[in-house]
Amino acid sequence: MSHTIAEGENALAPASALPSYLEADNLGPWGNYLQQVDRVIPHLGNLSRWAETLKRPKRILIVDVPIHMDDGTVAHFEGYRVQHNVSRGPGKGGVRFHQDVTLSEVMALSAWMSVKNAAVNVPYGGAKGGIRVDPKKLSLGELERMTRRYTSEIGIIIGPNKDIPAPDVNTNEQIMAWMMDTYSMNTGSTATGVVTGKPVDLGGSLGRREATGRGVFTVGSEAARHIGMDIATARVAVQGFGNVGGVAGKLFAEAGARIIAVQDHGGTIYQEAGLDVPALLLHVARTGSVAHFEKAEVLADELFWEVDCDILIPAALEQQITAANAGRIKARMVIEGANGPTTPAADDILKERNVLVVPDVIANAGGVTVSYFEWVQDFSSFFWDEDEINARLVKIMKTAFAGIWQVAQEKQVSLRTATFIVACQRILHTRELRGLYP
Ligand code: GLU
Repeated sequence: MSHTIAEGENALAPASALPSYLEADNLGPWGNYLQQVDRVIPHLGNLSRWAETLKRPKRILIVDVPIHMDDGTVAHFEGYRVQHNVSRGPGKGGVRFHQDVTLSEVMALSAWMSVKNAAVNVPYGGAKGGIRVDPKKLSLGELERMTRRYTSEIGIIIGPNKDIPAPDVNTNEQIMAWMMDTYSMNTGSTATGVVTGKPVDLGGSLGRREATGRGVFTVGSEAARHIGMDIATARVAVQGFGNVGGVAGKLFAEAGARIIAVQDHGGTIYQEAGLDVPALLLHVARTGSVAHFEKAEVLADELFWEVDCDILIPAALEQQITAANAGRIKARMVIEGANGPTTPAADDILKERNVLVVPDVIANAGGVTVSYFEWVQDFSSFFWDEDEINARLVKIMKTAFAGIWQVAQEKQVSLRTATFIVACQRILHTRELRGLYP
C-alpha cells in the first residue's frame, strides 16, 4: 500500500472571515487551524451547514493575574481560558505557561483539543488555557501564587462537569495539585476531577505522565507498519525532549530505533551511532536541556531539519515545520508530538515529497486519553493498575488510527484531513442532535 496520500483539494483554501476581535492578529496558529478546517468542509456532507461552529470558540475568558512578588512588588500576568466546543462533553485541555502565549495561540490549541478528543472518541469538547509568563523567572512561591490566582479567576468556568484543565508546556503535577486545591477550597469540596495530570497520591492516574509519549510511539509504530518501515532499524530525530519527546524517544530506542539527533531550547545534539537515551534523560532532568551532553556532537540548530533520518518527531511548540524548512526534511515520516508543529504550507510541501505526516490531533492524543481515564477513576474513586491503563490506551489509539487510515485511503486525503473528517463529523453530529438553545 502506498503512503502517498493525495489531498482532494489543491492549494490552500482561503481562511474564513475572522471574528472582529482577531482582525489585527497575524493569524498564526489560529489561522493555520482555520485553513485545516477549510480543507475538511468539502468532506462533511450535510453536516457542513454546522461547520461555522468549528471556526468560532464558544467562550473566551481573559483574566488579569496579579500576585505579590518576593521583592514586595505586585506583578500582573495575562491569563486565558478558551472553551472551543462543548458539544460532546465538558471542555478539556491543558494549561501552558510560556512567555509567547497569545490569545490566538490558545484559541488554536483549544480547537485542536476539540478535534483530538473527538478523534479518539473520548466524551469531551475542547478547551485550553495559558498564562503569558516565563515560569523559569519565578520563584517556587511566585509560581504557586500565580497558579492559584489564575485558577481562582478561571474558576467561574471550570469544573469537573464544565471544563477540566491538565498539564501542557511548562506545567506539571505540582501545578495541577495547586489548581485542584484552589478550586476545592473555593468550592468547599474535594474536587479531584477538576483537573487531570495530578500526582498519583492526589487522585492522579498511573501512566498519565508517560501517556502522551506512549501514544506517539503507538501511533507512530502503526503508521510505520502501514508503510513498511521497520522501527527496529529506524533513525529518529526528536525536537523537544521533555514529557512528550523524551518518553517517545525512550520507547522508540527500546524498540531498537536509533535516536540520532535531539534539539531543544538549549541546542542541538547528534550521534550517528544513536544517543544513549537513558543517559540523556538523566542529563536533561539534571540540567534542564540537552546542551553539554558529553556523548554527542553539537549541531547548528538550523541543520537539525536536514538530519538524514527515517522519522522526525517535532515534540516542542507550534509552527516549527514551515515552508522555509519542509523542503529540506529527509525523514519519510513526521510524527507530531507537539500541537500544531506543521503549517498548512509545509503540509503541502511534505505531501509533494511523499513524507507521511501523522498529525498531532491523533499522534499526541495519548495524554488526554489517560486524562479521561483519570477523570473516570476520580468520579468512581476506584483506581486501575498501570497495565490496565496502558492496555486500554493502546487499544483506543490503535482503533482510532485504523479508522483514520481507512478514511485517508478511501477519500485519498492526508492523515490530517482524514482525522479532521472523523472528528468533525462526530462534533457536528452531536451539535445537530443537541440543536440550538435558546
Ligand atoms: N496538554 C495535553 C494535550 O495537548 C493534554 C490535555 C489533557 O490531558 O487534557 O493534549
